[in-house]
Amino acid sequence: MIGAEAKGPLPGEREARELIRSAGVVLSSEGLVQGTWGNLSVRLPGGFMAITPTGTDYLAMSVADIVIVDLETGEARGGKPSSEKDLHAEIYRRRSEVEAVIHTHSMSACTVASARREVPPILDDLAQIVGPSLRVADYALPGTPKMRKTVLRALRGRMAALMANHGAVALGRSMEEALVCARIVEKGCRAFVESEFLGGAKPINKVEAVLMHEVYLRKYSKKNLERSKSKEGG
Ligand code: 13P
Ligand code: ZN
Repeated sequence: MIGAEAKGPLPGEREARELIRSAGVVLSSEGLVQGTWGNLSVRLPGGFMAITPTGTDYLAMSVADIVIVDLETGEARGGKPSSEKDLHAEIYRRRSEVEAVIHTHSMSACTVASARREVPPILDDLAQIVGPSLRVADYALPGTPKMRKTVLRALRGRMAALMANHGAVALGRSMEEALVCARIVEKGCRAFVESEFLGGAKPINKVEAVLMHEVYLRKYSKKNLERSKSKEGG
């Protein structure tokens, strides 16, 4: 039960609201989302998340518009949460390392998602951040249990996935990491489309791609992760 109105905000709630508001502005200004499409969230201690409200323009969204949701019950406080709240909640329930989730409708990601092509590890940074490929989740109507199932499957062992004929989802162990991941997904998809026109994308060896992802998660990203976590924690 979220009956926190009487007790004041949850631990970390204020910082999470500000983090989502500012990341929303970044996503919108970088063109990774348009208008009210896409959504983003941050995990809160104690089994909750803070998430964008449904159908709200990122440039008009205030910290007060952000909604708090119980990860187990789906109960919401403070407004109507994103229609993809169950997808976000399922990711937090199943992936304990994930602290932030961003769903975008960015251009090149949507192009590849429309062609339903799995992106091989064509760039070092794509392999490092996302993993040894960027899979495409089978098509499902937005906001449905089927969508949750197909996206979670495509995310196995990966920090991002495309959603067929829809967009992309990027994960992070911090919001900063999720933002970088969303940008790399877009860049990787664009490079994939363009390299297909230059005689075909040539992937990195799969074993080396797996190794690079492991090194990124365990070593390379450590300093930045600690810095962004202490910043995001306020
Ligand atoms: P919301 O505005 O409800 O977050 O939905 C946008 C979206 O991208 C659905 O997939
Ligand atoms: Zn969407």
